[in-house]
Amino acid sequence: MDFDGFKCERCGAPLEVSPETIVAICPYCGFPNHISGNLKTEKIFIIPSLDKNAIAKAFWDRVEHDFDLRRIKENIQIVDIEGHYAPYWNGTVHVYGTVRYMKREEECHTDSKGNTRCHTVERHYTEKVDEEMRLLGSARRQVESLGVDDLITHFSKSMPRGKKLMELEEGEWSRVKLEILNTEMDERHAILMMHEDAIDIIRDRFLAKSDRIERFDVHADEPRDVKLLLLPMWTVYYRHGDSIFHVVFAGWDGKGVAATEPMNVFRRAQYLAGTGIGILIAAFGAAAFANSPIFAVLVMSGGAALSWFTGNKALEGQRVERERKGIIG
Ligand SMILES: [Zn+2]
Repeated sequence: MDFDGFKCERCGAPLEVSPETIVAICPYCGFPNHISGNLKTEKIFIIPSLDKNAIAKAFWDRVEHDFDLRRIKENIQIVDIEGHYAPYWNGTVHVYGTVRYMKREEECHTDSKGNTRCHTVERHYTEKVDEEMRLLGSARRQVESLGVDDLITHFSKSMPRGKKLMELEEGEWSRVKLEILNTEMDERHAILMMHEDAIDIIRDRFLAKSDRIERFDVHADEPRDVKLLLLPMWTVYYRHGDSIFHVVFAGWDGKGVAATEPMNVFRRAQYLAGTGIGILIAAFGAAAFANSPIFAVLVMSGGAALSWFTGNKALEGQRVERERKGIIG
């Protein structure tokens, strides 16, 4: 197929399309053009974005409210502000079943002389699982830049209201429009991933709190309310000294969700000793799997904070596993 020369069905504007593109939203009029696969237009929602000026203001507010940044603000200079909408698949999955697990626990007894003795016992538990999980994952195939996972986390906390893309008036579209990254994962694939991830998230939650899973009998229904969400994300690049740093903002409320920041020498040393290593590993991971289909699904509700944590952990494992198995379906 020739990927040059694609034009918007509604207004005829040229579209940027790659071999992976499922839906390309016209940057001029907002019309969702289906390039391959079949996605119903009414399933595409947009979370409208603040504009560039509001993001610049959010940036300076952040500097003003940050103890370290405030002291160096005279030397901070915005270099660039970039925003885009990226597509995410969203759906609700009902997971249910039973898990039997063993956990080692300390048991202590105090005898009549007041001596306490402890030993480890293996306790067995059976728990029912019955919950609705809302999942959100990137509809793009490559790992994206810093801040994407943080954006998903913030989304789950703030739950901004979306609008049907097709219900945006033309005037409103031109007010909120930004570059829109193409959708590269179709609905069928997203549904398969959600189904599988929902079960994996539960498994990981039990792995985290037990010493051994003895029986895992958990099922997931077909994902419901499956939608494609366009989430706005902004990156502010700024210069301090000889370096460029950046802050990632959620476009719907201007909250800073991730940042690289100048720090004094002492903190920098701490940073390198701790988080820095994590970031390096993450960066390696991203490079290694840059071309594999990754559905970064996170639990958005229905579970406790723990499932967030294990959800993230589950993901790390799945990336590797999926790389080996290749694309499912
Ligand atoms: Zn158009």
